[in-house]
Amino acid sequence: MAQHGDVAVRTDRCKGCGLCASFCPKQVLAVDPGKLSERGFPLCQVIQPDACIGCGFCYSVCPDLAISLTVEKDR
Ligand code: SF4
Ligand code: SF4
Repeated sequence: MAQHGDVAVRTDRCKGCGLCASFCPKQVLAVDPGKLSERGFPLCQVIQPDACIGCGFCYSVCPDLAISLTVEKDR
């Protein structure tokens, strides 16, 4: 069954550790050291939203619950 994920990063929680990006099989996420959060951390960005397959790896590994993920089936 085909599925697609809508992934977003909560900028108030992300600390730019990069775990989500390193576990993503589709290179959807990347930490941008030039973009800082309000807390002064580099932020993870969604750089290829259309490539997300909704696998949930990013959501599972984020230690700060900073990933929002909605999975849509049959797209
Ligand atoms: S759900 Fe999977 S494909 Fe989508 S951003 Fe997270 S790790 Fe990458
Ligand atoms: S794993 Fe969580 S805290 Fe780390 S970069 Fe990704 S979204 Fe940010």
